[in-house]
Amino acid sequence: MSNPTIEQLLKSSSAQLVNSDSALLDVQILLAHVLNVSRSHFYTWPDKIVESPNLNQFNDLFARRIDGEPIAYIIGQQEFWSLPFMVSPATLIPRADTEVLVETVLNKVDSSTARGIDLGTGTGAIALSLAHEMSNWSMLAVDYSQEAVELARKNGINLSIDNAEIIQSDWLSNVDASWLAACDFIVSNPPYIDEHDPHLSQGDVRFEPSSALVAANDGLQDYIDILNCVKPYLKQGGYVFFEHGFEQADVLHQLFRECGFSNINTVKDYAGNDRVTFGQFI
Ligand code: GLN
Repeated sequence: MSNPTIEQLLKSSSAQLVNSDSALLDVQILLAHVLNVSRSHFYTWPDKIVESPNLNQFNDLFARRIDGEPIAYIIGQQEFWSLPFMVSPATLIPRADTEVLVETVLNKVDSSTARGIDLGTGTGAIALSLAHEMSNWSMLAVDYSQEAVELARKNGINLSIDNAEIIQSDWLSNVDASWLAACDFIVSNPPYIDEHDPHLSQGDVRFEPSSALVAANDGLQDYIDILNCVKPYLKQGGYVFFEHGFEQADVLHQLFRECGFSNINTVKDYAGNDRVTFGQFI
């Protein structure tokens, strides 16, 4: 059988990808990755034959997608804040909703020279996007996982970011005293899913590390742990920003209040769900 054209391959493979609700986009991304072209190439050259070495490579990646593996892990990359981030199964795949967290920090922190810490940085997406946006800010990003720390450092180097330091730390335990009472803000997208949540057995999250997704105490334990250790690091007027599940805003308001924070507010994500809650230490 002769090799397919680009158009034929995209059509036949997207028809097979019944377990994805973005089948055509998925196969376009995989083929673009294999051919090292942008997706617009496919509209210009639909009749081009896909040669055997490329076809074989595509088929290998496509088989992984058929098995449900997220596209970002297959190609090792995910865009966030219009920046390319390398991802690995040691980290969560950055989500579009998390851009709301970055946006909220940028809206609220009113200083051109702020210092901030990102707790549980994973790929580094939040800290590095903020550092990229605000070149005079100084960011510290921490993660418990050494693999995540190494990945975030590589992302920082790839993006030529020199105002974000990345260290291994269990929350603030390895953060040095120069950060005490020095933070304009602390930001985190910690694990917040309850271990019994049925979403954990569906779609892309099945392939992500549960240490980045699941938290005890109905998904709240990490918020409690963080709120209990951040205050000595905040300046007066400093903020804590959290991403959270769509049903967790009320309980987060309560946790912020119990810990003595003021000006507590929630911001919705692009789908209209409560997604980010923050409070100020006054
Ligand atoms: N928003 C992610 C999801 O629902 C979870 C991220 C997290 O636990 N921090 O898949």
